Amino acid sequence: MSEDYGKMLDSVLKQIPKAVFESSRFQIPEAEVSTIGNRTILRNFRSIASALNRAPEHLIKYLLRELGAAGNLEGTQAVFQGKFFKNTVDDRVQRYAEEFVLCRECGKPDTRLERHERVYVLRCEACGARASMRSV
Ligand SMILES: [Zn+2]
Repeated sequence: MSEDYGKMLDSVLKQIPKAVFESSRFQIPEAEVSTIGNRTILRNFRSIASALNRAPEHLIKYLLRELGAAGNLEGTQAVFQGKFFKNTVDDRVQRYAEEFVLCRECGKPDTRLERHERVYVLRCEACGARASMRSV
């Protein structure tokens, strides 16, 4: 690496907000998916919900809507009617995290989803930001 390139890289890195690096520590478990007949079982659904620190009922409602599928919770698993690839499920979980878990302002996952009558508010415990959410 030339010295100039090194300097350039340094200045680029300085421009990236710190929050980008901090939020990248946030680990969402990968979906463990099995297809049985015409049903897709998300075996580690509860672990994903608890890693996201969100109510399983809220997460499954979102996933069902995004997948356009019927389904339900069965113990620690979620069952979807239809066949879905692991990548599709991972992608929807990732989008859920971006929309309902990560703070819009600082990018940290230390947030709470609070319900005020019919409106959900995402409140960040790290920076205090609040954002109103659409309902799922
Ligand atoms: Zn924040």
